[in-house]
Amino acid sequence: MHESKFSIHIHTKYSDGNANHQELIKIAAQAGLDGIITTDHNIWLHGLDGYHGDDKHKVMLLVGEELHDRALNPPGNHLLAIGAQKELAPYAQDTQQLIDQINRAGGLSFIAHPIEDELAMFHEKAYPWRIWEVKNFTGIELWNQLSEFKSVTHDLLSAVTHALFPARMSVGPIERTLTLWDDLIASRNRQIVAIGGVDAHQIMKKIGPLTIKLYPYLHHFKSVRTHIITPNPPTGIFPDDRKAIYSALKQGHCYVGYDLPAATDGFRFTAHNDDGQFIMGDRVSPKGGLTFQIRLPQKSLYRLLKDGKIIKEWENREVATYLTKETGVYRVEAFIPFKGKLRGWIFSNPIYAWD
Ligand SMILES: [Zn+2]
Ligand SMILES: [Zn+2]
Repeated sequence: MHESKFSIHIHTKYSDGNANHQELIKIAAQAGLDGIITTDHNIWLHGLDGYHGDDKHKVMLLVGEELHDRALNPPGNHLLAIGAQKELAPYAQDTQQLIDQINRAGGLSFIAHPIEDELAMFHEKAYPWRIWEVKNFTGIELWNQLSEFKSVTHDLLSAVTHALFPARMSVGPIERTLTLWDDLIASRNRQIVAIGGVDAHQIMKKIGPLTIKLYPYLHHFKSVRTHIITPNPPTGIFPDDRKAIYSALKQGHCYVGYDLPAATDGFRFTAHNDDGQFIMGDRVSPKGGLTFQIRLPQKSLYRLLKDGKIIKEWENREVATYLTKETGVYRVEAFIPFKGKLRGWIFSNPIYAWD
């Protein structure tokens, strides 16, 4: 198995971001990323996908799109489309049709910032997902750093602190989003993939003669990442490697890692029975017994959840096992102290122990 670190949900100068793709590739290489997925608003850029950077640090650039109906009031329903390899904006007015088109094109769709609060103090509107009756989307953006900013900023002091020292802000996905995800899987009885998104714009604020970069791309690229697990290391042949990344994302073979406090590389959550090994995103029958194995890259506090409820917690441990014969959706959350707070560090995709 091979693990690749991706930053997902990035805006460029083609919509409301403040860098072009070449600049982003350089910053991604500096941050040590394996790949980035750009998603500009209602525009898909053809011909940029590929390996970029120098031999020392190659970066895979994948171009997706963030779609929404511009006429919608109140606003919301932002959908990330990845891997469809075509312009989808003409379908943005009808969300179900849009999802169907993405599926038909072999792409993936993720509900962006499913829960979001407004930041009334700065006249910042909320852009949550409002139409839950839609079907057949791939997954949701579990952790969105821009939504987190809106939900944890309550006054001018916290706004200034979070804007100037973003490392002091992030504590994890919005709790309501975690609950929503658990409930969605339970009510629909199907796999729903979670990814981490940064929603990076690198906002440029002019204060007198100074221009301040708020939430620089480099900060985002070092923080919330989607770690994607493929069966084999990349071949270097771009179309093959891209296919492997999309296939792993589609199956939920990935986890969300907040890599700023400490690298989450090497985290594993697996299930074992007589048929072999299963990883995050897989479905396996618990009949006859399953042994879960959890491996953390360093000692931390972590817990195993079943159908959204904590069933076991470990402290100051790196490795744990858990035996079960019970059906349910099992996932792992890990926490780490950083800058005076215990912060969300790892959020796995589930193993679906279903008959
Ligand atoms: Zn959005
Ligand atoms: Zn966005």
